[in-house]
Amino acid sequence: MIKVLDARFVVTAVDPKGYPAESRPEIAFVGRSNVGKSSMINALTGRRKLVRVSGTPGRTRALNFFDVELERNGVRHAVRMADLPGYGFAKVSKSERAGWKTMIETYLGKRRELSAVVSIVDAEVGPTRDDEAMLGWLAQRSPKVLLAATKIDRLPKARRKPRLQQLARALELTSAAVVPFSATEHIGIDEVWDALLDVVGPRS
Ligand code: GDP
Repeated sequence: MIKVLDARFVVTAVDPKGYPAESRPEIAFVGRSNVGKSSMINALTGRRKLVRVSGTPGRTRALNFFDVELERNGVRHAVRMADLPGYGFAKVSKSERAGWKTMIETYLGKRRELSAVVSIVDAEVGPTRDDEAMLGWLAQRSPKVLLAATKIDRLPKARRKPRLQQLARALELTSAAVVPFSATEHIGIDEVWDALLDVVGPRS
């Protein structure tokens, strides 16, 4: 049983100078623009508008940090979420795209408190080339990676399990590292938290 006690916005940053002082384990959320990342963070925290769900892809051009206090089976946890800019949005200039890449890789490569990365792919669309590049980059580094296959509600029930197995195979992950998710139908919320809290461990 997961219970979110508090979730609040901390700060927006574009480079390490703007990051909050490290004080608790951090969980980064990455995914292509419009994949459903904001909706996922809102669903995980049980806050409808913690992160703005945008109709305009590519609008989040910075890192946003959120502090979350929660309880699992009576044990308290304090974590920080880092919402990284969505990648792979086609309608931006090359230099802007390079800027995002630097922003994402600087955070993921240097943050000491980074404990886990939730890599989000669209269950219906499957991994894009950008998703594969992101996962390949992460595989060469230390953080634990959890793959969330979101918008799973868009697949008929009979196609869900085969799709998850297919995703795991394509991305060379164990099936255990792939969690089906839907923000609209509230699927996978406890499963994602369980996997993340197993990694970060109790601390409050
Ligand atoms: P972001 O750009 O990655 O933060 O994506 P958003 O959270 O803003 O979502 C992009 C679009 O996908 C919005 O129209 C959402 O309503 C929709 N969406 C997000 N999550 C889900 C989901 O789990 N299921 C379905 N069917 N649609 C979703």
